[in-house]
Amino acid sequence: MKKLLLAGAALLTATAALAEYPEKPVTIVVPFSAGGPTDKVARDLAEALRKPLGGQVIIIDNVGGAGGTLGATKVAKASNDGYTLLLHHIGMSTSPALYRNMQYKTLEDFEYLGMINEVPMTLIGKPSLPATNYAELTKWLDANKGKINLANAGLGSASHLCGLLFMSTTKVDMTTVPYKGTGPAMTDLLGGQVDLMCDQTTNTTSQIAGGKVKAYAVTSTKRLTTPALAKLPTLDESGLKGFNVSIWHALYAPKGTPKAVTDKINAALKIALKDPDFIHREEGLGAVVMTDARVNGPEHKKFVEAEINKWGPIIKAAGQYAD
Ligand code: ASP
Repeated sequence: MKKLLLAGAALLTATAALAEYPEKPVTIVVPFSAGGPTDKVARDLAEALRKPLGGQVIIIDNVGGAGGTLGATKVAKASNDGYTLLLHHIGMSTSPALYRNMQYKTLEDFEYLGMINEVPMTLIGKPSLPATNYAELTKWLDANKGKINLANAGLGSASHLCGLLFMSTTKVDMTTVPYKGTGPAMTDLLGGQVDLMCDQTTNTTSQIAGGKVKAYAVTSTKRLTTPALAKLPTLDESGLKGFNVSIWHALYAPKGTPKAVTDKINAALKIALKDPDFIHREEGLGAVVMTDARVNGPEHKKFVEAEINKWGPIIKAAGQYAD
């Protein structure tokens, strides 16, 4: 009887603790450097999430490197108490095809909390690049074969995936220069140390609007309506038929995080994604914020599985351009 009472008391304490979640700051691990697009989404989301998460402080922990797999590993191995979360992108589904010794299992080691947004990419060049449009760029690529370099955020990153498809569809091999995120890659592109980069519009729109970089095309199949990007052709209409890369971002917790906690985070995420300031910021940068149906853990898990099956063969087929 005493044992039963003790067990009952322990259960009550655990339930009370869950009811109070979060009672201390929550950390969101961003698996790329500060200043890049994933970091930007995370910082904007942290602001929108704060109120629905009971006013708690949300800390962003940038753990860049190895195309996002280092940050994802950190979260897969973190305490499953809801205080360490991961905000990752399409790299969740591209890394399994690229890393033989990944320290986590994408579909088994996380609780899936829901999708945040979808973001197209842009193909941009260093300011001193003489080509001013895509037609001129193709001539420049031909004339400079063997000398061109392309920045990315490591194997499996969004910029790597987009660059990989670009190299394999144009059949132009380039030297890839990996960074821990496209924040620092952008700094080098602006400084002329690297020639080209594919990156999310959430990182490139202001540079394009300010005329700081050369902008050649968007990676979506339709042109964008965001004013600074509306004049850019798609790669598809520029001759790379079927070229289509759209990056998504989503939130995860370590496997085994209690359902009461993941439900709370999911509910808070749904509220945050309706925050008019968040929506306004995202849309201004070419992103589409998810509505409730896709802010759903099980749905998102199915989606990631489909993405793994979709990108794996494409990455393998383009393998000769892998790094
Ligand atoms: N945009 C990066 C990528 O290529 C990641 C980042 O820095 O946010 O995956």
